[in-house]
Amino acid sequence: MQTDSLSPIPLETLTALCKRRGFIFQSSEIYGGLNGFWDFGPLGVELKNNLRDAWWRDMVRSPPLGPDGEALDIVGLDSAIIQNPAVWAASGHLGGFNDPMADCRESKARYRADHLMVYRPKNGQGTRFAALTGEEARAEKRIKKVAKADPADYEVVEYTQIAEEEIPMVWGPDASEPGTLTPPREFNLMFKTFIGATSGEDNVAYLRPETAQGIFINYKNVLDTMRVKLPFGIAQVGKSFRNEVTPRNFIFRSREFEQMEMEWFCHPEEATKWYEYWVKTRLDWWASLGIDLNNLRRREHGSDELAFYSTACADVEYKYGFTHPDYGELEGIAHRGNHDLTQHTKHSGTKMEYHDPQTNEKVIPHVIEPASGLTRGVLVLLNEAFAEEFVPKGDSDAEVLQAAPGAPTPDGYEKRSVMRFSPRLAPVQVAVFPLLKNRPELVNKARDLHNELRGNWSCFYDQTGAIGRRYRRQDEIGTPFCVTVDFDSLEQDTVTVRERDSMKQVTLKQDELSSWLREQGI
Ligand code: ATP
Repeated sequence: MQTDSLSPIPLETLTALCKRRGFIFQSSEIYGGLNGFWDFGPLGVELKNNLRDAWWRDMVRSPPLGPDGEALDIVGLDSAIIQNPAVWAASGHLGGFNDPMADCRESKARYRADHLMVYRPKNGQGTRFAALTGEEARAEKRIKKVAKADPADYEVVEYTQIAEEEIPMVWGPDASEPGTLTPPREFNLMFKTFIGATSGEDNVAYLRPETAQGIFINYKNVLDTMRVKLPFGIAQVGKSFRNEVTPRNFIFRSREFEQMEMEWFCHPEEATKWYEYWVKTRLDWWASLGIDLNNLRRREHGSDELAFYSTACADVEYKYGFTHPDYGELEGIAHRGNHDLTQHTKHSGTKMEYHDPQTNEKVIPHVIEPASGLTRGVLVLLNEAFAEEFVPKGDSDAEVLQAAPGAPTPDGYEKRSVMRFSPRLAPVQVAVFPLLKNRPELVNKARDLHNELRGNWSCFYDQTGAIGRRYRRQDEIGTPFCVTVDFDSLEQDTVTVRERDSMKQVTLKQDELSSWLREQGI
């Protein structure tokens, strides 16, 4: 897995590989694309489904044991994407789900004002230079070139912190002169649509910006039908839509994405205990997928970041190639108090109390919400799995070398790109090859084996090219096991299995193959 000592993977390298090998494509590409929308190709959808299924299994079907070793109760849900607009009034999204944005009058570019960093001369004199977070080098270059000054003599502030009278002095990232940026203004992120044949304001509806509210509005249905007792959880995976001002960094921030969210309803007195439990459990879960703990961290929100109703919130953050050496959000775990149930009670008139049959106590449960991005999780898996190595040619037993991006291949070595997905998440788990494609007896046996294995695993059959090249093609998409049918297979019923990471080969009896694969955790 990627470790801290390695150089970060350029996003362009990952995006190009994803396109070339059928993981992720720009949406509507043949019509010029659509900013902020992505299509998952044949391998991408397998990877995404595998991550979704792992979450569902580990959260709903077989949740972890609680802090005192007790079995937890979490049930699933799949609510509608379009809900009564009153839901969004109650949740606060209609009034407050805004991001600050700024436009450039010259280039027509639009920016998230809180993602725009402004270099301001420490002495307060002269032009200010703006750049998007992660692209600060562009502003520093311009300072040196245009202002002929040292970036160290500038302080960096968010565009939202810039005084109105300073705005004409700010040089926007894509402008040819200062003074083209508009002051920041609030922009609601919800996608609007209309229900039925008329498009009047009475028929306005919204695509959900999160899956969580679908859970709150079904809390009572679940309580009344499933005989659940506090504490319990309701989990949901599905699409969410946000009209992001600046979708960027590939699938990190898109306008259509998927979330995996769980609302944990508990007694108010136990909420702190459960908050701690879920923050730890969720971080451990990402690590259990093979993500290096060096690349994950817990970041507690400061009091200035918390919503007024929330007493605590922590993010599980990952060191993405484009945030390196810093981290970016992967999942948020929020202590939401009883805000959501209280709001929906107030707006709908439906009581959301929990009546404890044993103590006769009535409480409005408090909620801990682990909310993660499924599509953002796919980006983490891709980022984490990707590696380039220099492999010794031929039979040399020289060591495999890690390749820094762009480094030349040393003599006697060849480069290999490899995706080190955990075998349980890999889009293709087993590839099957006949040694030669012009020997029908090998081809027939390999095809039979492929048909047999595909009932249990995600498999791929390939008979084209030299075996070494077939291995490389599978390495690049992260297939953990390649099985070759050779002449020994015909005579002794054996197969050769080559393992992706070690590149070692083992010979197995064909009838032992399935149990061997299961032992490898797939
Ligand atoms: P951010 O600060 O990155 O905008 P957020 O704090 O608004 O995210 P939440 O509302 O807590 O995000 O949503 C939970 C999770 O959903 C996030 O941790 C992230 O993984 C995912 N997510 C949110 N917005 C997007 C998006 N535009 N594209 C992809 N994933 C997203």
